[in-house]
Amino acid sequence: MAQQIPEDKMGLVVIGGGISGLSAALTWALNHDTSKDPVLLIEKEPRTGGYVTSFERKGYLFDTCQMIPNISEILEYLQVDIEMKKFMGYYSRLFIVDPKTGKVKKIELPSGFRTFKKKLMTEYPKNAKEIEKFLDYSRAMYIELFKLKMEAGFVDIIKLLFTCPKIIKNSSKTFKDYFAQFNITEPDVIEIFDVFAAFSALPGDRAAALITISAMNSLLDGAFRPTKGFQQFPHKIEEKYLELGGKLLPKTEVKKILVEEGVVKGVQLASGEKILSDYVITTVDPKVAMKEMVGIDKVRAIDAKYAQKVEDVKMSCSSMNVSLGLDDKIDLAALGLDCGYNVITTGGNTFDKLFDGFEKGEIAFSDSLFHFGVICPSLTTGGKPNITIRVVPMALGDWSELREKDPKKYKEKKEKWANYAIDKVEKYLIPNLRKHIVVTDISTPATYARYSGSPTGSIYDMAPYTTNFGRSRLKMRTPIKGLFQPRFVHGVFGSLLSGLQVNDMILNGKIMNGMARLPKKIEE
Ligand SMILES: Cc1cc2nc3c(=O)[nH]c(=O)nc-3n(C[C@H](O)[C@H](O)[C@H](O)COP(=O)(O)OP(=O)(O)OC[C@H]3O[C@@H](n4cnc5c(N)ncnc54)[C@H](O)[C@@H]3O)c2cc1C
Repeated sequence: MAQQIPEDKMGLVVIGGGISGLSAALTWALNHDTSKDPVLLIEKEPRTGGYVTSFERKGYLFDTCQMIPNISEILEYLQVDIEMKKFMGYYSRLFIVDPKTGKVKKIELPSGFRTFKKKLMTEYPKNAKEIEKFLDYSRAMYIELFKLKMEAGFVDIIKLLFTCPKIIKNSSKTFKDYFAQFNITEPDVIEIFDVFAAFSALPGDRAAALITISAMNSLLDGAFRPTKGFQQFPHKIEEKYLELGGKLLPKTEVKKILVEEGVVKGVQLASGEKILSDYVITTVDPKVAMKEMVGIDKVRAIDAKYAQKVEDVKMSCSSMNVSLGLDDKIDLAALGLDCGYNVITTGGNTFDKLFDGFEKGEIAFSDSLFHFGVICPSLTTGGKPNITIRVVPMALGDWSELREKDPKKYKEKKEKWANYAIDKVEKYLIPNLRKHIVVTDISTPATYARYSGSPTGSIYDMAPYTTNFGRSRLKMRTPIKGLFQPRFVHGVFGSLLSGLQVNDMILNGKIMNGMARLPKKIEE
């Protein structure tokens, strides 16, 4: 529902109507009388949702996202009800391909911490003790995460030595270094745990151990998909927000964040109008927000260290999604596709090598080196059968330039890589796939750059390298008084949570008592 540009001063302006922005705006509305402390959400696109959306092509409903962990405690807080399917049995499958022989090894990953542990210990008895030790230790470290404070002071840090010893010990380790401590030698088991690192779109030798452990444990607690498509997230949150009197300006671009003498004053729109506010939350790419919207010199004058951190932050990779609408002769359930996520990979150091390519701005995928996600939303959402192939990591490279300056070449390039991905999925997972294709939709890093406004088309915000994560990450509370940027934990869970965290900071602990997470009942 489009609204007028407000003339009054706002209590809060939120820039960007993705999941972080929606969550931040709704949390404010839940904690204020919006007639006295109004909140305004500004989104440049006609619809809210950002990266989280569903789209229709010729009667097929596709999702951008695929799978989320259990977020019920956050949705409960937000008073938003989204019907979700929980993947029972296995929630993920791994297909390890030997491209020389064409042989494929299939590994199913069951949900539930205890079931998962039992399966691994039974199937890999040679490493049973090591697996148990690794999983139990990692579980305990994951539970420690719930004792972390958002902005730990000196006393809090001292306390952490006793309350979170495992986190303190491992917080600066990469997943690979952390994993090496447990002496697991079974190649399949190593492969399984590497996949969890890849879920954070970083190889194990670069991903912070804590992010991988967190992704692994939260998905073991339950992997979910909304039954009516991912569009339910923005729809339901927006609905609740408007019901509480929150204001929304779609199709409106913010150009500047207004700062005077180190204090935020509001925002300026691309149309030139100014909207004044005591608080501004930006949920757009942090480099864009700080370098272009505020101006890096202004940030530097206030806090040179923060400005340097903005310059140094490494953003995550981009993606290519090949969404395929299929005829109704294909039986996707019989192929076992009714699960959260399938990974086809050439195994070993595949993801590391693909990532090396990404870091050079190149595509390292080849016939002997690949790693794809294959997802089937339609077995959850109903409707016409479809699958999505995810090609990650992708760099922006020349995608945006080609799209603008040479559309023919852009089309050829995207079709080349889409065909490459379809070939592999047909060869190793879905026989005769091509025969069933009715609709093809291809999104490239240029698509993600355009929609999110991230110049690198980064799909997971700041990448969780050890230098970008934990205490080393760019702080949510900027050095500009009243300006916050809750952007540092990728994924739907992190985005939803960040909206609560940032309001908790503004409201001095009213929501989460300064903690990093909402309390949760966890299977130990
Ligand atoms: C293909 C794909 C698959 C994914 N799969 C999963 C998954 O399975 N599970 C999972 O948990 N996560 C997944 N993610 C990641 C997840 O979608 C994101 O981490 C999350 O949605 C980020 O939300 P956000 O609000 O922080 O950012 P965004 O979604 O990028 O939202 C930012 C918003 O700001 C708006 N904006 C930008 N500039 C301006 C401006 N100047 N003025 C006004 N508005 C502006 C944009 O239009 C956008 O709506 C996936 C992402 C992609 C792209």
